[in-house]
Amino acid sequence: MIEELIKKHIHTSRTPVSKESNDLVNDVAEILNADIIAAKSGSEVLTWFIPEYFHVKKGLLKRLNGEIIADFHDNPLYLWTNSINFQGKLSKNQLKEHILYDENRPNIIPYHYKQGFSIKAENWGFCLPYNKWANMNDEEYEVEIQVDINNNENMLTGVAQAGNKGKTYIFAAHTCHPAQATDGLTNVALLTEIFKTLQTMDLKNTYKFVFGPEYYAAAVFLEKLNDDELKNINGAFFLDLIGADTDFAFSTSFFTDSFVDKVTEHIFLRKVKNYKKYGYRKLIGNDEMFYNGPYFKIPTVTLGQIASNYYHTSDDNYSNINFKKIKEYEKIIFDIIDILETDFVPVLKYKGPLCLSRYNLFIDIRSNRDAYRHIETMQILADGTLSCFEIAEKIGADYKFVKDFFESLKRKHLCVSR
Ligand SMILES: [Zn+2]
Repeated sequence: MIEELIKKHIHTSRTPVSKESNDLVNDVAEILNADIIAAKSGSEVLTWFIPEYFHVKKGLLKRLNGEIIADFHDNPLYLWTNSINFQGKLSKNQLKEHILYDENRPNIIPYHYKQGFSIKAENWGFCLPYNKWANMNDEEYEVEIQVDINNNENMLTGVAQAGNKGKTYIFAAHTCHPAQATDGLTNVALLTEIFKTLQTMDLKNTYKFVFGPEYYAAAVFLEKLNDDELKNINGAFFLDLIGADTDFAFSTSFFTDSFVDKVTEHIFLRKVKNYKKYGYRKLIGNDEMFYNGPYFKIPTVTLGQIASNYYHTSDDNYSNINFKKIKEYEKIIFDIIDILETDFVPVLKYKGPLCLSRYNLFIDIRSNRDAYRHIETMQILADGTLSCFEIAEKIGADYKFVKDFFESLKRKHLCVSR
């Protein structure tokens, strides 16, 4: 399923406002029965403008003898995002102004995204592997770029939901980035899979999955929120770079010690072998900036992996996706959701330390010293003010250990949840 969705959309020209990005939004919306918000290109959202719609008919760089050097239809990365129309012959020197290459990674096609974030595109250009560029020795080259670039079309943003009670948590990933795998697409596919499962569960909370082009989907979603909905949001998670062949990582929200920050760190600390923790926006600066941003102030953690050395290049492709990492990440996210779903405030119905052996709850100090001590302190802290998660954090214990203990007290009618 994850593979199928990725395969279908990996090679497409998913610029922010394009049929290709909209196609992905529509496909995910169909799977999850999601709402779609349409925003016209050129229209204002928050203080931003939705970029121009971009459709490429032809994007060719040729030698004068007709030999093709770069063809958009072979790889959309060859053409700069939102290139304007151009037709003509240029010397290599004139052409240089319109070429992006990366000398340090000479065999890849880099990704030129800048014009995708400007109000009006004013330039055209190609991205080439440096080795290809360095071997071009002709006096003149021919360029043919035919595109539709205008403000006549809509950018689509999808919002899927699971559960309809309690607090709201947002999950977000971006659908854009032509021919890029782990920058956007794999994260959308993973969240689609997770939401398919969540939608079959009886949930305590409400989960929303926001998917659409980077920055603008977040802006469109946030602009539509009313104050009551905003007040009910307890935190958000933005996913990016999942499926790269690098270590796991997360970056904290702006607020650093919010509930979602603590839950995320709790899980990484105990369940993930090698990971790196970054400060706010230090892993990758993206949609989290909108959610955490002025007025909304939704604590938003970024879940991802360290940027690979093929980040923003033609090597961020299907064959380099590490599906094992995606599976492992799915587990991490369900562990996070498990805390959001199962945490409760235990209130004891007895006084004094419980005679554990009488209730079959005794742990021998010799077999597990930490657990032996935790059980004692946990009971003192269970005074009806702290939740299982808060108690676990306070004493440095595993959430599941604390929760399971109080669950067993509940089953023995020694405790109730508040
Ligand atoms: Zn990117």
